[in-house]
Parts: sequence; C-alpha cells; structure tokens
Amino acid sequence: MPTSADSNRRLQRLDQQRKPIMLRSVLLMTAFCLMLVGLHAWSLWASRQGELDQTAVSTANMARALASHAERSLSSADAVLAELVERSQEDGMDRLDSARMHARMARITGGSAEIQELFVYGADGTRLATSLPALLPGSNIDREYFRYHMAHADTGTRIGKPIHSRSSGILTIPVTRRINRPDGSFGGVAMASLRLDFFGKFYDSFDVGQTGTIILAIDDGTLLYRRPFKPEMVGTSIAGGPVFQLYKKTGPVGTAMMVAKIDGIERLYSYRHVDGFPLLVATAQAKDEILKDWWFAVIKMSCVVLFAVCMLAWGVRRMVRQLRVREALESELRAARATLELRNVSLRQLADSDALTGLANRRHFEETLAFEHERARRSGLPFSLVLLDVDFFKKFNDRYGHVAGDDCLRRVADAIATGPRRPTDLAARYGGEEFAVILPDTDSEGACAVAEKIRLSVQALGIPHADSSCGAVTISLGVHTCCPAAEMDVSPLACIEAADALLYQAKMDGRNRLASCVECAAA
Ligand code: GH3
Ligand code: MG
Ligand code: MG
Repeated sequence: MPTSADSNRRLQRLDQQRKPIMLRSVLLMTAFCLMLVGLHAWSLWASRQGELDQTAVSTANMARALASHAERSLSSADAVLAELVERSQEDGMDRLDSARMHARMARITGGSAEIQELFVYGADGTRLATSLPALLPGSNIDREYFRYHMAHADTGTRIGKPIHSRSSGILTIPVTRRINRPDGSFGGVAMASLRLDFFGKFYDSFDVGQTGTIILAIDDGTLLYRRPFKPEMVGTSIAGGPVFQLYKKTGPVGTAMMVAKIDGIERLYSYRHVDGFPLLVATAQAKDEILKDWWFAVIKMSCVVLFAVCMLAWGVRRMVRQLRVREALESELRAARATLELRNVSLRQLADSDALTGLANRRHFEETLAFEHERARRSGLPFSLVLLDVDFFKKFNDRYGHVAGDDCLRRVADAIATGPRRPTDLAARYGGEEFAVILPDTDSEGACAVAEKIRLSVQALGIPHADSSCGAVTISLGVHTCCPAAEMDVSPLACIEAADALLYQAKMDGRNRLASCVECAAA
C-alpha cells in the first residue's frame, strides 16, 4: 500500500512534468486562428490575381479581334484607293467622269459595309469622280486631308480626322491617297470615307461592362471612336492618356492596369497596333467591375471564416473557463490534502506519544522495538535497549504528593530525552516511573555511554528526595545489547526481559547505577 510520502513524491514528479496548459491552449488556438485567417487571405489574394490574369488574357484577345477587324476594313478601303489612284494616273484625270467609273465606284460602296463614299478630287479640290449618284458642286480644298496631300509627296494611305460627310452629314473617317501627275506633281486625292458607326456597331457587340471602354485611334493620338460614344470627343487627342503612355513605353502590344485621367477610373487596358496602318485599338475594363464577383466571394468566404474563428474563440473561452475551474478545484483539493496530512501527523503524534511526558508511549515503543529487532536481524548489526526506573519513587510520591511526582516524572523524561542523539533512537515511557530507550545499530559500549549520560543528567537535575540515600531523585538502568541475526530465537520480548533483569540487578546493586551485558558474543 503506497505511503503518504510515496504519493507526495509521485505528485511532485507529476507537478514537474506539468506544463502551463491554459497558456498553451490559448497560444495554440490563436496560432490556429491566425493560420486560418492567413490561409484565407492568401487564397483570396491568389483568386484575385487569377481573376485579373484571366481578364488580362480576355482583354488581350479582344484587342486582337478589334485590331484584326480594323485591319480588314482598312485593307479593303486601301485596295479600292490603290485601284482609283492607279486608274487616275494611268487613264488620266480628265477621263475619270465616265459612266463605267461611276458604276464601278457605286458597286464597291454598295457591296461594302464600311465604305460610305468614294471620291476622286482634282488638284483644285473639285470632285472628278464619285460613288454618289451625282457629283456635288464645289471644292474640297478646305479639307485637312486634302491640304496634307497637297503639301506632302508621300503616296501611302493616310487616315484623317473624322469629318461630317458633305453629302450625307454622317461622321466618317477619311482614308486618302495622293494622286501624282506623270511629272510627279500633285494631281489630286482619292478618298474612301469609312462610316464611324460601322466600327461603333462592331464595338458595341463586345461586353466590357458598364464602365469598360473600347478605343480606336490614329497612332498620333487622334481619337476616331470611343465606346461609350461621345461625338464631341471624336477627333480630340488622347495622346496623353493611359493607352498612349503604355504604347510609348511598351511598343505595339501591351496590357496594364492604369488610371484614366478622363474619369479617374482604374482600368485594365489591352491595346494593339494595327498591322500596316497607323492605327491603335484598345479595350479596357474597370478594375472594380472585374473584381465584382471576386468581392462577393470575399464577403461570403470571410463570413464563413469569421464564423469559424468566432466558434473557435468561443470554444477556447469555454475550455479556458473549465480549466480555471479545474485548477481552482485542484488547488482546493491540494490545500485540503495538506491540512489533512498535517492533522494526520498531529494525530499520529498524539497516538504515539505519552500524555504526561511527551515521550513515545508504550505502543509506539513496542512497534519500534519490533521494527528495529527485525532490521537488526536482517542487517546483522546489534541494537541496544535501555530500561530505566526512578529510584524510590513510591516514597517520593508519598512524601511530596502525586502532583509533585508527575512533575518529577516530566523533568526526568526531559533529561532522558537529551541522552539519545541519532534520529533513529527512541526514548519512551514504558509505564509508571519506568522508561526505555531503543538505540539501533549501537553496541554495548555505545549504549552504556548513552545510559551513563542519562543517569548523570537525571542526577544533575537535583530534584530533592529526602527518602533516597542520595538526597535527590536518581534512576537505575539496565542496558542490554542484542544481535538477533546471531541468535534466531531472540524475540523483542526476550530483549525486554533481559534489560529488565539487568535493571533489577542495578537496583540490587544499590540503585543510581547501570548494569549491562552483551547477548551476542558472536557480534
Ligand atoms: P524502586 O526503587 O525499587 O523502584 O522502588 P519504587 O518505589 O520506585 O518502586 P515501586 O514499584 O514500588 O513504586 C512505583 C511507584 O510509582 C508507584 C506509584 O505510586 C508511582 N507511580 C507510577 N506511575 C505514576 C505516575 O504516573 N505518577 C505518579 N506521581 N506516580 C506514579
Ligand atoms: Mg518500578
Ligand atoms: Mg522505582
């Protein structure tokens, strides 16, 4: 059965292994929550990047489609202009106003969705040939494109600022070429006017969101068309805008997130230069619109994560509360146990001690004697037993009274208690005015020294005793040393009897003395 010391040691060991579980739980849960939130933030960031990347790919594809559409439209107009210039230069300007030429030009515009009108102007700006049913009177010398060709010798296709057609009044893009006389001097201009709404209809078929935009511009920055369409913006310069900034920086193709000066909206721009023509097409989608669905997902997922974190925090709080309750209970139990142990110790002391003298009582003496006897039997070492008796104590009582007798016994007991020194030694009241001292691991010589010391201590008390030959209270002692290992049948009782016999001998020899003998000659 485990003793109280054993269980105390076990408790101490467990206490040393004990870790601050409350702090650890809170730290662990906090780390877990932070990890959850971090993971959530990281996944949202990754999906945001994915959304932007995906839109970048789709806007780049849209820009490619727009560029290819513009290139096709311009190529067909260019091919027509090349034919008109070639005819004008080969056949001569004065032979252009023929029915055949008119029919050809009308057939071209009739079969083309983008070409509104075709014109050939003479060097003075008068119309020499047209796809219209009749030639308009007057001159076109005031037009910007006409003046350009008059002043510039290059014969390439030129795209001019959008103008209102003088015949139909609609907005058109003038695509023109210079016609040279045989000597290389300026002979006139061939023009194909492209309908602006042709591009508008095509651009409207794309979904770029409510604040998205599509731009068609000459590469000097002149705006030809912009979705959403505002007529007043046509022909203005957007050279300082984000598309052209990007174009100047990164070349013919590019995609980037930029803020438009015009409305302050941040957009993802994709642009592309049209192959073979001085044109730039661009498309852009507002960042807020691109990320609209993403934001919805953010709110939804964040609510879920927040709920999870709240649940965890709630759980941790409850757990911490429970831990606190447990710890409080534990410390209460420990305190109760400590009190109980203290009470046990004092009860034990009370049960083991003699009420009058405070020395060990007879029961404790007999237990200790049995224990030490057994120990000596196992170890082979001797142990000594001293029996003491107050001399003429009956007479002391008779003369001084019982109260004085009790007091005398207390003082004698105190003197006896000073004799043994080792913690394993035990001084006890054997009964009446008889005392006993157990001296484990002590031979006869050592025991006699202790006994003599006790005798002298009692004598030194100098308690008057008129009926004693010494005139003071004295004691007689029987000192017996035995070695149970050498003689198997020596019992604790036999030890007492032997010590008692020696005590009797000391009495017979005249009292106030000790008598001793060693039982185990072998030891
Ligand atoms: P001896 O020298 O031979 O030992 O003679 P003695 O008188 O001491 O021995 P005896 O056995 O005849 O007397 C012992 C006396 O001790 C008897 C009793 O009155 C007294 N006594 C025993 N216990 C107590 C006690 O607790 N208090 C008091 N005051 N006296 C006690
Ligand atoms: Mg006696
Ligand atoms: Mg006596």
